[in-house]
Amino acid sequence: MNHANDMIAAGIQAVATASHITRTVQANLDAVITLTKDDRSPVTVADLAAQAIVALVLEECLPDPADRLVVGEEDAGTLKDESMSAVRNAVVSTVQQWRPNATEQDVLDAIDQCDHDGSANGYWTLDPIDGTKGFLRNQQYAIALGRIEDGQVIHGVMGCPALPVSQDARLDIPDTRGVLYAASRGEGAWEFEGCDPAAERLGIRSRPLQEERLLQFCGSVEKAHSNRSDADRIAEHLGDVGDPVRIDSQCKYALVARGQADAYLRLPTRKGYVEKIWDHAAGSIIAQEAGVIVTDIHGNPLDFSHGAGLKENRGVIAAIPSLHERLIATIEELEVGAVETA
Ligand code: AMP
Ligand code: MG
Repeated sequence: MNHANDMIAAGIQAVATASHITRTVQANLDAVITLTKDDRSPVTVADLAAQAIVALVLEECLPDPADRLVVGEEDAGTLKDESMSAVRNAVVSTVQQWRPNATEQDVLDAIDQCDHDGSANGYWTLDPIDGTKGFLRNQQYAIALGRIEDGQVIHGVMGCPALPVSQDARLDIPDTRGVLYAASRGEGAWEFEGCDPAAERLGIRSRPLQEERLLQFCGSVEKAHSNRSDADRIAEHLGDVGDPVRIDSQCKYALVARGQADAYLRLPTRKGYVEKIWDHAAGSIIAQEAGVIVTDIHGNPLDFSHGAGLKENRGVIAAIPSLHERLIATIEELEVGAVETA
């Protein structure tokens, strides 16, 4: 196996393992302990346990420490406080479902290992539970791991533990098996039914534009994450657009990548918000390798060469090729994003 194959295989193993554990946590949501981070967003036992598991699997699979630098969303800081012992114990016992011998120190160290700042030439970026609010509503979420080298995303793995593999199934009812997506630059994008790396690896492809059906867009459930009135204006201007699918997390990229939707619109809601690399690295390469065009709202490629933030970009438009150009032109014409609330 060459090095690139080792890297993607390690990423798939890490995300698949974490996906199986977070599914057990979501199945017992009543017992989930939620903290509120400084930015008022929730973080759960599952976020912290998933980050620890991904770090521990990467450590087992990749002998060279330089291959396992991670820019992760979470840190173990607050967990170490004595008042947090209940949460800390819950995180440790969640990890122990998979590795019974892991100690509290192993778990805290693994979470804190994901503190790279993005200054190396190559690193992973991890959102251990993307769409935490969806996770807590017993809806969709993703475990998203992207590999960035020289400012470019080269591998992406996304566990969608509650997403039905069948495109006919309802998206608002969590699936019991889920599906995992993976992609490597220039090699294609694949799905693994049941989040099982041993399952048959099936190539995925976005769908072509067809005049006879309405366009299908997808966007955030959370109103604060994407501007809905701008999305409505764009749809109205284009015409022939159906009601949008609202779904949490980078599962939106997967819907476009697997040919279930035509576009994912993420339109800025407030001035100065900088999108995070862990919210887009994995999803964007999976979509691109399935034939989707991914840019910001001005049509510029996402620029992953500035550490943890996509500071040169605003919003995201991921769309099938023939539609993407029309969306960017419409955004310009309607001056979407030109005026934002503070
Ligand atoms: P989604 O599930 O697509 O709504 O996105 C969830 C992600 O939105 C979280 O991981 C946050 O990092 C991110 N987020 C938080 N605030 C904002 C905001 N104002 N605009 C866009 N994304 C945000
Ligand atoms: Mg996220």
